[in-house]
Amino acid sequence: MSLDARQSLSQAIDQFNADDSVKAAILICKGRTFIAGADISEFDHLPFKDPWLPEVVQKIEDANKPIVAAIHGSALGGGLEVAMGCHFRCAIESAKFGLPEVTLGLLPGATGTQRLPRLVGIEKALDMMLSGKPINVKDAFNSGILDMIIETDLQEGAIAFVKEILDTQTPIKRLSQININSNDVSTELFNDYRKQIAKKSHGFFAPEQIIKCVEAAIKLSYEDALKIENSLFLECLNSEHSKAQRHLFFAEREISNIPNKSKDSKIREINTFAIVGAGTMGCGIAMNFLNANIPVTLMEVSQEGLDRGIDIIRTNYQAQVSKGRLSQEQMDHYLELLNGSTDYADISNVDLVIEAVFENLTIKKEVFEKLDVACKPGAILATNTSTLDINIIANCTSRPEDVIGLHFFAPANIMPLLEIVRGAKTSDDVIATSLKMAKTIRKVGVLVGVCFGFVGNRMFLPYVREAELMMLEGVSAQRIDKVACDWGMAMGPHAVTDLSGQDVFFKLNDEWEDQPDDPSYFRICKVLYEMGRYGQKTGRGIFKYEGRKSVEDPEMTEIARREANVLGIKQKDISDKEIIERMLFAMINEGALILEQSIAMRPGDIDVIFCNGYGMPRYRGGPMFYADLIGLKQVYNTIVNYREQYGDRYWTPAPLLEQLAAKNKTFFEWSKERQT
Ligand code: NAD
Repeated sequence: MSLDARQSLSQAIDQFNADDSVKAAILICKGRTFIAGADISEFDHLPFKDPWLPEVVQKIEDANKPIVAAIHGSALGGGLEVAMGCHFRCAIESAKFGLPEVTLGLLPGATGTQRLPRLVGIEKALDMMLSGKPINVKDAFNSGILDMIIETDLQEGAIAFVKEILDTQTPIKRLSQININSNDVSTELFNDYRKQIAKKSHGFFAPEQIIKCVEAAIKLSYEDALKIENSLFLECLNSEHSKAQRHLFFAEREISNIPNKSKDSKIREINTFAIVGAGTMGCGIAMNFLNANIPVTLMEVSQEGLDRGIDIIRTNYQAQVSKGRLSQEQMDHYLELLNGSTDYADISNVDLVIEAVFENLTIKKEVFEKLDVACKPGAILATNTSTLDINIIANCTSRPEDVIGLHFFAPANIMPLLEIVRGAKTSDDVIATSLKMAKTIRKVGVLVGVCFGFVGNRMFLPYVREAELMMLEGVSAQRIDKVACDWGMAMGPHAVTDLSGQDVFFKLNDEWEDQPDDPSYFRICKVLYEMGRYGQKTGRGIFKYEGRKSVEDPEMTEIARREANVLGIKQKDISDKEIIERMLFAMINEGALILEQSIAMRPGDIDVIFCNGYGMPRYRGGPMFYADLIGLKQVYNTIVNYREQYGDRYWTPAPLLEQLAAKNKTFFEWSKERQT
């Protein structure tokens, strides 16, 4: 619904109204889809250019002859709002309908919050607008959005439908003229929805504004309620939350745009897939491919390991069936696509193989030497390593151009993020194929370069490092985690390390050759590792666990005090502001280094990584967007201030940050300039 589309639609309605020889109109779209939403890029350039969408929708509704929306593809956001301005709606069976504005931190501001409740009732309207999820034709018909489902050609069907309306003189339906009967709405309803959003959309701004608009739809006249919708829409639009969510929307589209990609890079076909190592990650990764109907061969060293892996996959699917998320037939179908093997000869024909064996370079090198011998030419050989040097792994094969890192995140069948790690010799078509494959298995694939921890883990380590150091300085783990969660993180840093395992974090740091020469660096993690307090899996880590519930462990405070004594660290009080700044700014500073070194292509790529794999809330837009929002000068000055207090080991500002702060520029401006 760009300006052009609004203008021409508005003119078409004028012509339609003026032409007495025309009895009715059908609003139908050429191409892939009905109007699939607003032009989001316009949202950054207020005021909107006339005619703005609510006026166009009203103009459609005000027509004194029937207008029928004939829908194929997706009628989303502004598209559905236009369709609701029409007097009747029909659609083909594959069409989808929804108001996804909430996912951009917005509300349906072109009369959607007022028309949808009149069309489908309060509860269905709230469900659709608060989730933002599209519904299918059957649901749309049953809930009243559609007057007719067309099983033949859309245009022919719509013409037949219009003739019927004219023949039967069916009165025009104008949604704005329907009154909602407030007696039908229970007083508890809105409270129930508020409780629901407090849980599901904690911290987000737009959901509450949507509820307020629907409350207004009941209490006020249509015209007065529209004024509320309009003012709350503008409030959402100007909010930092919506800016952050819109930024992520564009950043997620940008991730598959690879600068300087060779023009003749082709996409390789991925029809068969194998995974070596049926452990935690291997099984989760396998499920992604099975879910996309791609046959999987699971490889293990022993039959016993194989049986265990297949059992994990079966149990995971069984749990989905029990919860009603998957049918038994679907589960059986997926398991039929799964084969097990302990013999490399069985994967000689696969198109893609991912190695997910122990995080040990010697073992991984052995596996890649075998893959090199066994796999057909042109097969993509990938590793799921979290930290190891992909170039070393690639160079132990005769085809380093076919080797790439595909770094999934645990649980691999659920977490959307996939870091696609390009080695020095990885070919462009292997990269392009990996990016496409990520979409096929519904992952958000972000291309990154080789370094310890790649982008995500490399930036996450300084964040956790600061969280740990502050424990030594006398702040309780609970408080640190609470400050992080209050800022919006899905879990606090200590809850995360306890979940992944203190043993995992210990080993991860231990393998790192350039580990800081600092006895306090991950000291608590090391002590817990030596005590066998690995976290959730052993019932005790930084916290104590009763089932999955964590409780404070007084012994932990003692351990922190004792270690601080040994290290000569003075315990003190630290403000909430410092707690969050130290964790986030340490992460942002590392992000600036990563950009400088071209390990990430764009600041937006880093943001996509953190909002899809590390529990950062979308309304913050990711670490680099957040830094730009508060201003790089402030980030830089704060880091300099911490350097004065805590020394330069961890608090030397990245040169890029220093340079941009001096010029009063943002990471995004820098990135844009670099691209042009
Ligand atoms: P895991 O210990 O659960 O599983 C490893 C599996 O590999 C075991 O089943 C083992 O029997 C098998 N294996 C070992 N050597 C083998 C060989 N030569 N051939 C075939 N199978 C072999 O480990 P995991 O947590 O699944 O991690 C696997 C990889 O994924 C590691 O590189 C790890 O760094 C990476 N990773 C792990 C996580 C995580 O959170 N667990 C996240 C991202 C990446």
